[in-house]
Amino acid sequence: MTAEREQPSPRTRRPAASSETVRVNMSRQKRRDTGCEMAVRRILHAEGIRYRVDFRPLPEERFRVDIGWRKYKIAVFIDGCFWHGCPAHGTLPKSNSAWWSAKLQANSQRDRRTNEVLRARGWTVLRFWEHEYPAHIASTIQQQLKPNSTCSNHAT
Ligand SMILES: [Zn+2]
Repeated sequence: MTAEREQPSPRTRRPAASSETVRVNMSRQKRRDTGCEMAVRRILHAEGIRYRVDFRPLPEERFRVDIGWRKYKIAVFIDGCFWHGCPAHGTLPKSNSAWWSAKLQANSQRDRRTNEVLRARGWTVLRFWEHEYPAHIASTIQQQLKPNSTCSNHAT
Protein backbone atom coordinates (compact mmCIF):
# COMPACT_ATOMS: atom_id res chain seq x y z
CA MET A 1 0.00 0.00 0.00
CA THR A 2 1.20 3.46 -0.77
CA ALA A 3 1.46 5.70 2.26
CA GLU A 4 0.97 8.94 0.41
CA ARG A 5 -1.28 9.53 -2.52
CA GLU A 6 -0.70 12.00 -5.28
CA GLN A 7 -3.76 13.62 -6.76
CA PRO A 8 -5.49 10.99 -8.86
CA SER A 9 -4.44 11.33 -12.45
CA PRO A 10 -6.96 10.52 -15.13
CA ARG A 11 -4.39 8.30 -16.75
CA THR A 12 -4.06 5.80 -13.95
CA ARG A 13 -2.52 2.71 -15.37
CA ARG A 14 -4.73 -0.31 -15.65
CA PRO A 15 -3.56 -3.80 -16.33
CA ALA A 16 -4.25 -4.45 -19.99
CA ALA A 17 -3.91 -8.15 -19.45
CA SER A 18 -7.46 -9.28 -20.07
CA SER A 19 -7.88 -8.30 -23.69
CA GLU A 20 -4.37 -9.47 -24.37
CA THR A 21 -5.19 -12.81 -22.82
CA VAL A 22 -8.32 -13.21 -24.87
CA ARG A 23 -6.39 -12.61 -28.05
CA VAL A 24 -3.71 -15.12 -27.14
CA ASN A 25 -6.37 -17.69 -26.37
CA MET A 26 -8.04 -17.40 -29.71
CA SER A 27 -4.93 -18.47 -31.53
CA ARG A 28 -4.10 -21.30 -29.21
CA GLN A 29 -6.59 -24.12 -28.84
CA LYS A 30 -5.36 -25.68 -25.70
CA ARG A 31 -7.33 -27.62 -23.18
CA ARG A 32 -5.51 -26.85 -20.01
CA ASP A 33 -3.69 -23.95 -18.48
CA THR A 34 -5.07 -21.56 -21.00
CA GLY A 35 -4.10 -17.93 -20.73
CA CYS A 36 -7.55 -17.16 -19.42
CA GLU A 37 -7.34 -19.73 -16.67
CA MET A 38 -3.89 -18.59 -15.70
CA ALA A 39 -5.07 -15.00 -15.55
CA VAL A 40 -7.99 -15.96 -13.31
CA ARG A 41 -5.65 -17.89 -11.06
CA ARG A 42 -3.29 -14.93 -10.82
CA ILE A 43 -6.12 -12.64 -9.80
CA LEU A 44 -7.40 -15.05 -7.15
CA HIS A 45 -3.92 -15.57 -5.84
CA ALA A 46 -3.34 -11.82 -5.65
CA GLU A 47 -6.52 -11.59 -3.59
CA GLY A 48 -5.04 -14.04 -1.14
CA ILE A 49 -7.36 -16.84 -2.18
CA ARG A 50 -5.94 -20.33 -2.09
CA TYR A 51 -7.37 -22.87 -4.47
CA ARG A 52 -6.70 -26.24 -5.95
CA VAL A 53 -6.21 -26.74 -9.67
CA ASP A 54 -6.78 -29.59 -12.09
CA PHE A 55 -8.05 -32.18 -9.64
CA ARG A 56 -10.60 -34.94 -9.55
CA PRO A 57 -13.36 -33.83 -7.22
CA LEU A 58 -14.92 -37.29 -6.98
CA PRO A 59 -12.58 -40.24 -6.74
CA GLU A 60 -14.89 -42.54 -8.70
CA GLU A 61 -15.22 -40.10 -11.59
CA ARG A 62 -12.55 -39.36 -14.13
CA PHE A 63 -13.37 -35.77 -14.84
CA ARG A 64 -11.23 -33.00 -13.43
CA VAL A 65 -11.97 -29.54 -12.18
CA ASP A 66 -9.92 -26.60 -13.45
CA ILE A 67 -10.06 -24.59 -10.23
CA GLY A 68 -11.92 -25.57 -7.10
CA TRP A 69 -12.50 -25.96 -3.40
CA ARG A 70 -13.41 -29.28 -1.87
CA LYS A 71 -14.27 -27.63 1.42
CA TYR A 72 -16.91 -25.41 -0.17
CA LYS A 73 -17.79 -27.88 -2.90
CA ILE A 74 -17.19 -25.34 -5.62
CA ALA A 75 -16.00 -26.46 -9.03
CA VAL A 76 -14.87 -23.99 -11.67
CA PHE A 77 -14.47 -24.89 -15.32
CA ILE A 78 -13.01 -22.54 -17.86
CA ASP A 79 -13.99 -24.06 -21.16
CA GLY A 80 -12.06 -23.59 -24.36
CA CYS A 81 -14.23 -22.02 -27.04
CA PHE A 82 -13.27 -24.60 -29.59
CA TRP A 83 -13.30 -27.79 -27.55
CA HIS A 84 -16.50 -27.04 -25.74
CA GLY A 85 -18.38 -25.49 -28.66
CA CYS A 86 -18.76 -21.89 -27.58
CA PRO A 87 -21.81 -20.39 -29.34
CA ALA A 88 -19.80 -17.29 -30.23
CA HIS A 89 -16.52 -18.83 -31.37
CA GLY A 90 -17.09 -22.54 -31.74
CA THR A 91 -16.19 -23.64 -35.22
CA LEU A 92 -16.24 -26.91 -37.03
CA PRO A 93 -13.11 -27.78 -38.99
CA LYS A 94 -13.85 -28.24 -42.68
CA SER A 95 -11.99 -31.47 -43.11
CA ASN A 96 -13.35 -34.47 -41.26
CA SER A 97 -16.27 -32.35 -40.20
CA ALA A 98 -18.44 -35.34 -39.35
CA TRP A 99 -15.79 -36.69 -37.02
CA TRP A 100 -15.28 -33.30 -35.42
CA SER A 101 -18.97 -32.76 -35.06
CA ALA A 102 -19.34 -36.02 -33.16
CA LYS A 103 -16.26 -35.30 -31.10
CA LEU A 104 -17.34 -31.83 -30.05
CA GLN A 105 -20.85 -32.98 -29.37
CA ALA A 106 -19.50 -35.69 -27.12
CA ASN A 107 -17.51 -33.05 -25.27
CA SER A 108 -20.63 -30.98 -24.65
CA GLN A 109 -22.51 -34.02 -23.45
CA ARG A 110 -19.69 -34.87 -21.11
CA ASP A 111 -19.75 -31.33 -19.74
CA ARG A 112 -23.46 -31.57 -19.08
CA ARG A 113 -23.05 -34.89 -17.36
CA THR A 114 -20.22 -33.52 -15.24
CA ASN A 115 -22.46 -30.66 -14.14
CA GLU A 116 -25.24 -33.03 -13.23
CA VAL A 117 -23.03 -35.44 -11.31
CA LEU A 118 -21.43 -32.66 -9.31
CA ARG A 119 -24.68 -30.86 -8.58
CA ALA A 120 -26.26 -34.11 -7.45
CA ARG A 121 -23.47 -34.31 -4.89
CA GLY A 122 -24.12 -30.81 -3.65
CA TRP A 123 -21.39 -29.06 -5.58
CA THR A 124 -21.74 -25.61 -7.05
CA VAL A 125 -20.62 -25.69 -10.67
CA LEU A 126 -19.33 -22.51 -12.26
CA ARG A 127 -18.66 -22.76 -15.96
CA PHE A 128 -17.09 -20.01 -17.99
CA TRP A 129 -15.89 -19.58 -21.54
CA GLU A 130 -12.25 -18.80 -22.04
CA HIS A 131 -13.29 -15.71 -24.01
CA GLU A 132 -14.77 -14.14 -20.89
CA TYR A 133 -12.80 -11.51 -19.06
CA PRO A 134 -10.61 -13.05 -16.38
CA ALA A 135 -11.43 -10.23 -13.97
CA HIS A 136 -15.13 -10.89 -14.41
CA ILE A 137 -14.67 -14.62 -13.91
CA ALA A 138 -12.57 -14.04 -10.81
CA SER A 139 -15.14 -11.73 -9.25
CA THR A 140 -17.94 -14.18 -9.93
CA ILE A 141 -15.92 -16.88 -8.21
CA GLN A 142 -15.20 -14.57 -5.29
CA GLN A 143 -18.89 -13.85 -4.88
CA GLN A 144 -19.49 -17.58 -4.55
CA LEU A 145 -16.82 -17.84 -1.92
CA LYS A 146 -18.02 -14.82 0.02
CA PRO A 147 -21.14 -15.92 1.94
CA ASN A 148 -19.06 -17.95 4.36
CA SER A 149 -16.14 -15.64 4.94
CA THR A 150 -15.90 -12.00 4.05
CA CYS A 151 -12.24 -11.73 4.76
CA SER A 152 -10.60 -15.05 4.23
CA ASN A 153 -9.14 -16.06 7.52
CA HIS A 154 -7.31 -19.29 7.10
CA ALA A 155 -9.17 -21.69 9.28
CA THR A 156 -7.07 -24.69 8.50
ZN1 LIG B 1 -15.94 -18.11 -27.11
